[in-house]
Parts: sequence; C-alpha cells; structure tokens
Amino acid sequence: MTAQLDLATVLLPHKSSFLVGALCFLYLRWQSPRNEGLGILAIGFLFLALASTLAGYGEQKLLPAFLWTLSSFTLGLTGYALFWIGLSRLSGQRRQRTDWLALAIPLTGAVVGLITHFHVVNYARATAFNTGAFLFLAASAFKVVWDRRDEPLPVRAIFAASLAVGAALCLAVVVGLLKPAFLPVTTTYAFFLLIISHFAIALFALVLVKERAEAALRRTADTDMLTGVGNRRWFLSQLPRYGFEGDALAVMDLDFFKRINDRFGHQAGDKALIAFAETVRANLRSTDCFARLGGEEFGLYLPKTNEVQAKAIVERLRLAIEQLDIRFDGHRVALSVSIGVVAGRRGERSSEELFSMADAALYQAKDAGRNCVVAYASPPASFATNISSARTG
Ligand code: GH3
Ligand code: MG
Ligand code: MG
Repeated sequence: MTAQLDLATVLLPHKSSFLVGALCFLYLRWQSPRNEGLGILAIGFLFLALASTLAGYGEQKLLPAFLWTLSSFTLGLTGYALFWIGLSRLSGQRRQRTDWLALAIPLTGAVVGLITHFHVVNYARATAFNTGAFLFLAASAFKVVWDRRDEPLPVRAIFAASLAVGAALCLAVVVGLLKPAFLPVTTTYAFFLLIISHFAIALFALVLVKERAEAALRRTADTDMLTGVGNRRWFLSQLPRYGFEGDALAVMDLDFFKRINDRFGHQAGDKALIAFAETVRANLRSTDCFARLGGEEFGLYLPKTNEVQAKAIVERLRLAIEQLDIRFDGHRVALSVSIGVVAGRRGERSSEELFSMADAALYQAKDAGRNCVVAYASPPASFATNISSARTG
C-alpha cells in the first residue's frame, strides 16, 4: 500500500511541529532555567512556525507575492540561525557573542532579496532557503558531536543523527531543485520526513537536559562536599566485587585531628582536610581511586599494585602530607597521617575482608606512634616503616 500525501496536508503538521517544538523548549526552559540556549531555540522554532504560516497564506493567495515570499524567506532563515545559536549554547553550555554573527546570513538574504527580488522566483528562493537550513542543521549536528569530549552524554549520538537527517533532507530538496532528475524524494515527502525530524529534535533536546541533570545528580551523590573527592558510596562502587589479587587498598586517618579543631577551630580543620585531599589527589595515578570515607578518614584503592609498590606510594603520600605548609590565622597547622595498607591475595573473598585487614594495619600504625605506614601481615607479624621523627602530638 502506498500512502498519498499532498503538500497542503503536509504543511499544516509541518507548521505544527515547530509549534510543538517551541512549546517543548519553553517548558524545558521554565523547568531547567540553568540550561543555556533553550529560550533562543524556542524563539527560533516560533520564527519557523511563523514563516511556514506566511508561506501557507501566500500559497492561498491571501498575501501579495512580494510580501509573503520575502517575509517567509527572511523569518524562516532567521529561525534556523536562532536555532543554531540556541542549540550551540544548549550543547556546549557556553554563551559566545560571536554566535550572533549567524544572523548575518538571513540579513544578507533579505538585503539581496530587496535589491534583486530573487525571492519571488520560487526555485531561487527555495534553493537559497534550503541551503541555509542545511548549513545551520549540519553545523548543529556537528556541534552536538563535538561537545561530546567535554560532556559525553549518551543521547548526543542519536540527537546529532536526527539533526543530520534534517540537514540531509534540506540538502535533498536543494539537489532536487538543481537537478530534478536526481531528486531522491519528492518535496512533499521531504516535508513529511522533516516533521518527524522536528519532533525528534525536540524530544532529544529534552533527553539531553534530563541526562545532564541525572549526571549532575550522580556527581553530587558521589562527591564529598567539603573536599570535592569521591565519597564512601562512590568508593565502594569502584571496588571490584571479588578478586583483589594484585591490587592494594589503603585506609588513611589523620592524626590527632581533634586537637587541630580544638586548637585552631573547625574552619582550620576543614582547611586541613581540603589540603590533605588535594595533595593526595595530585600525587595519584589516573587509575587509582581516592575517597573520603567519613570524618578524617580516607580510602585509597590501587589497582594492579603489589605490596612493595603500594607501600612506596603511600609512604610518598605520608611524606607529602607531613611537609604540607598549612597556615591558619598566621599559625602553621601541622598535619600527619597514619596509613594501613593491604595487598590483595588469592582467597580474599570480599571488600569487607580487605577493609578489615587495612583497618587492622591502620590501628597498628596508630599504636606504633602515628605518622607512619603499616602493611597488613598475617598475624602475628606486622611491619612498620618510617616512623617519622616529626610526629605530631
Ligand atoms: P587519631 O590520631 O587517633 O585518629 O585522633 P583523632 O583526633 O584524629 O581522632 P578522633 O576520632 O578522636 O577525632 C576525629 C575528629 O575529626 C573529630 C571530629 O570533630 C573531626 N572531624 C570529622 N569531620 C570533620 C570535618 O568535616 N571538619 C572538621 N573540621 N573536623 C572534622
Ligand atoms: Mg584521626
Ligand atoms: Mg578517625
């Protein structure tokens, strides 16, 4: 069965698809005002709906040809230029003044139209209009993919694809106008498919905003507010369920931290916690996982690290902390950390098991006088290194 579509029937939902899209963008802007570009996207679609309406009136001879052709051409191309500006901002979350230069294209088209009257020739107007639409939609698709480097949301691929389909349809119309023999689709079908791509664009813009909000929530749920490093929830989610052989876990606890709070105040304690987290983070490999487990206790998971390497890494961290020069109200806040470390061996069944071994080593480090590293060894032997002469307390 083949469906028959006439242009007049298709033009109505074509116009409506812009209105639905504009409503969708306006709703999103109201609900998620922190997303850039949604208002401009809505205005762009409203311009396109208006251009489509004027063209419809013109086709019914309700408006003088010179007026409707020039106004629908200029408004439509302005709509696509605004669409590009809005989409570029939505995708990259950045305002760039140079974006507005895109409006030079419809402006130039209008001036050339006023001088040459090319717009009254259907063929010339449609070719210029669809070329502009193709350029703006193709640039939008490219931008959505490009911004993936900074914000790799899953929706970007399908969003860019729907924009690319819109661009391809406009290009198909241009090809059809220039070389009718090569016309891949009829204009009516191109309009029909464009309607679907408008709905898809509005839908995927909505999904992008939703995925962005979810990613932000996930980040907040996984991050420790004070230090900006991962929290306990995130840390546990990063540990493998089983099989720790060849990996190492360290538990780090700041020494006599209560005294820092008591002596310098809570703010100084906070500053020390932030400095500690920054120092550790700056000294880790990209594969290591570091998190604040709670209070002044931190966890460090070192994948593919044997005991000797793990001890060397945490010893380096211990030294870096000891050498920190934290100042508060003109006083130096001396900081040190005790670290219990365990290397995963065959047979360890759960992360809890590994944690309790690292904790046992940490207790030994505290007992050994603090500011030192202790590697877990099967009882009774234990191994303490580098009890610094500069212990606190
Ligand atoms: P130890 O060497 O045995 O670990 O002694 P400690 O004083 O570090 O241990 P204790 O458990 O007695 O005290 C921990 C302190 O850490 C108590 C608590 O007020 C402080 N603390 C926990 N979270 C925060 C925080 O977010 N900010 C500040 N400023 N202090 C915190
Ligand atoms: Mg402590
Ligand atoms: Mg503690």
